[in-house]
Amino acid sequence: MAKGTCMSKALAVGIGVLTVSSVSGLVLMAVMYKLQIDNFPPVSPPTPTKPGIPTGIPPTLRLPDYLIPESYKVFIQPYLYAAINNNYTNQSFVFTGNSTVRVKSMAISETIYLHVHDLNVTTVEVTKLDSNEKLSVKGYTIFQNETNFLKIELKQLSGNGTYYDIFTKFEGELLDNLAGFYVSWYTKKIKAEEEEEEDQERFLATSLLQPTDARKVFPCFDEPALKAVFDITIIHRPGTIALSNEIGGAHKVEIDGEEWIVTAFEETPIMSTYLLAFTVSDFTYKSKPSSTNINIHARKDAIDAGHADYAIEVTEKILKHYEEIFDFKYPLKKIDQIALPDISGGAMENWGFISYQESGLLYDKENASTFDQERVATMIAHELAHQWFGNLVTMRWWNDLWLNEGFATYMSYIGVENAGWDLRDLIVLREIQTAFQVDSLNSSHPLSLQENYIQTSAEIIDLFDDITYRKGAAVLRMLATFITEDAFMKGIKTYLNKFQYKNTVYKDLWSCLQEETKENVEAFMSTWIEQVGYPVITIITQTGETSQEQFLLKQTGGHDIPWQVDIRYIKATDSGVKNDLLRVKGPVRRPHFELKDKDEWLLANVNCTGFFRVNYDEENWNKLRMQLERNHHVIPLINRGQLIDDAFNVARGHRLNITIALSLTKYLINDTEYIPWESALKNLDHLILMFDRSEVYGPIMKYLRKQITPLYNHFENSTINGTIPEKHTDQYNQVNAISVACSNGLPECIKNAKNLFKDYRNGTNDIHPNLRRAIYCSAIASGDEYDWEFAWKQYQRATVTAEKDKLRYALSCTKEIWLLNRYLQYTLDPSKIRKMDLVSTINYIAKNVAGQPLAWDFVRGHWSYITQEYGAGVISLGSLLDAVTKRFSTDVELEELKQFQREQEEDDQGLAARALEQVIERTEANIKWVKENKQIVKEWFMGEL
Ligand SMILES: [Zn+2]
Repeated sequence: MAKGTCMSKALAVGIGVLTVSSVSGLVLMAVMYKLQIDNFPPVSPPTPTKPGIPTGIPPTLRLPDYLIPESYKVFIQPYLYAAINNNYTNQSFVFTGNSTVRVKSMAISETIYLHVHDLNVTTVEVTKLDSNEKLSVKGYTIFQNETNFLKIELKQLSGNGTYYDIFTKFEGELLDNLAGFYVSWYTKKIKAEEEEEEDQERFLATSLLQPTDARKVFPCFDEPALKAVFDITIIHRPGTIALSNEIGGAHKVEIDGEEWIVTAFEETPIMSTYLLAFTVSDFTYKSKPSSTNINIHARKDAIDAGHADYAIEVTEKILKHYEEIFDFKYPLKKIDQIALPDISGGAMENWGFISYQESGLLYDKENASTFDQERVATMIAHELAHQWFGNLVTMRWWNDLWLNEGFATYMSYIGVENAGWDLRDLIVLREIQTAFQVDSLNSSHPLSLQENYIQTSAEIIDLFDDITYRKGAAVLRMLATFITEDAFMKGIKTYLNKFQYKNTVYKDLWSCLQEETKENVEAFMSTWIEQVGYPVITIITQTGETSQEQFLLKQTGGHDIPWQVDIRYIKATDSGVKNDLLRVKGPVRRPHFELKDKDEWLLANVNCTGFFRVNYDEENWNKLRMQLERNHHVIPLINRGQLIDDAFNVARGHRLNITIALSLTKYLINDTEYIPWESALKNLDHLILMFDRSEVYGPIMKYLRKQITPLYNHFENSTINGTIPEKHTDQYNQVNAISVACSNGLPECIKNAKNLFKDYRNGTNDIHPNLRRAIYCSAIASGDEYDWEFAWKQYQRATVTAEKDKLRYALSCTKEIWLLNRYLQYTLDPSKIRKMDLVSTINYIAKNVAGQPLAWDFVRGHWSYITQEYGAGVISLGSLLDAVTKRFSTDVELEELKQFQREQEEDDQGLAARALEQVIERTEANIKWVKENKQIVKEWFMGEL
């Protein structure tokens, strides 16, 4: 880790002051610094009684297994005020506390290991429970390396299940690094004298402990399988409320002549440390009492404006739905959900107390699009699913993180149905096609890794990726189809019931599902879970010859172990879906794949329920294309998209001529459905990225303009009238129509966007919230400096995150280099762009062809600052690298990347190492592909003009 490990306490305090004050002005900094020095002089780490600080890393970074924690009693006292005003002139970002953990000792030993990180531990006491005898502590040491071990040395600890209480006192800092117990802030409009509004900074303390940051709040056994019950008490300033996983009761106390509030929470169920959560804020809430009390907490302004109402409504529906389909009542008495100004990763499923970024929980009917509304529903559905998958039943170790995230992702599509959202088909676009991309690289990883491969926090954080979430969801969907959804849901009920409050490995899941089916679950699934990648199935319809091979964009070997592939297929003349289980690599002859009739076609992987791509002989591809052109409704909707996605990618993997893929997009002139359009646009986007700096781009633009015109016209009336179509996917496609038409120069589109934006500048914003992102972007792309400045002012003024996000995106669309460069600089100033928005903002800028080289230079130039200031946990360095290198397709760019990698290795940083390997591999694949295909692509598009 870059941060904190070698820092002295004094330095850490100094940095804490600086970072926080940078958001709130220099005056505050002076005040705070004085307070820190006066009241909380920097304390040196305790001197170990044995000389020297251990630096050697033990062979395993896991805690030894002879101590089993059973319960914790934790007191935490943050000194933060919610507001700095005349009554309180000093702000403080210190917290103190103590913790007593009761452990059962299973072996005789002389040492206790727990986790602690960035905390100053001032007292350690160990008491033997049965005799109430205080043991003499020979010394304790905090390891200054990635183990984060707190080692306590004693004379002797008995085994045989003897109980001990380990008591620690500690002090920590509330930093603004979005990890552990951290400080966040927002601006509140206060009615000052003479009715003038005035902005006031408000502060809150909140936490994000996944995966390994509970140890930053109190010394603990910070591994998911070391579950315990937690008795939490928070001591906080008057005027704030404290929240945690359980129900709390508050009373006033006086400490050293000062008034404080003590909020004591009921004991939690047995749970993992990473699911704990604490918040102290001046937020208010809205409630709905029912069998489980649902409370939504947020800024008072947002609650008063009704922005929490939608979250309450959907939470109730989704919770009820899950309780029914899992046949398991939500186990806590209440569910608090809070909208935070800053959180990394969108949301966190803390048991009984879920935290979200504001746009994930708050919905403003007036200003938000239906997509924003859908985002609230899907995020709630994801986090609520975790209350069972992850919280009630938890993976034993992080190597099986997919059991948490794959399930939550898959279930969220089912959960939202009860809240009126039919998104099931979209799982293919959003999760599966994205997982296909990442998993087609040699640098991908198997869904489940060996337990001992994952040890450091950085390795754990790396696992929160598209494979874990999206491939996880994809293989669960595949398994549900293979054994039937009915059997799948039955097995799930058994699984939850059998392993409640426990930890599992994925084989525990197979054994529960196996009870419900005749299919061999383990034999089928092990090929998808344990090995990296996925296959492309090649079917030659003249002979029925079928084979499988690992699909890689850059075909360098690949492994030879076959997958068990459940191929569901249809033919032109047959009715109904049939299936065939392919277990071997092949080629093998499958008579039912042989086509005798010249008009007959074969379509495999119906509805893309399998996690594999399909390639055919050219003749079958052509027959499928002709069917699409003749009557596309014959081909299932999902497959109209998947055929395009497979063809483009199989072509990128050098297995098909790119012109066949391109030809499949021609029929779209007659299709208005979202899934096929979106699949095509995503793939054409890649083509655009590869060629938008070359002469091929002109013909591509002209072709896209031609293809999109009917779709634009299809929605034109509603676009001009400021209305939206009824069907949700049509609403998405309306946005596609505008974005593609405007960005490819359709004059009526640009004119319309400019007019609407002009009205907005003149004070009337009639643009439907659904269309704002696309219209703002088009207007700013074709506008001038004054349009940009107007949008920037609107961004700064907006209080609703959903609106802010649309403007933040639109600002990246300008073609002016100097504006883009200045915008990049803004991303490092948290008073302009919040830390959690850094990656997406740079991503937007990099997507703009004018912004791409600027973004890469910017990230490279500020890399050490970004990694230090925003380091692991705050932002995903991997997605940042991914974003700024998407266009890379030249030897010069590859050399720049390799140079960057060498610099990283020299610095021994190891941050985002896998992501760096992935983008290098992608760049190499791009270079090869562009060399081979540039001329062919150019000629094809020229031929279509
Ligand atoms: Zn999740």
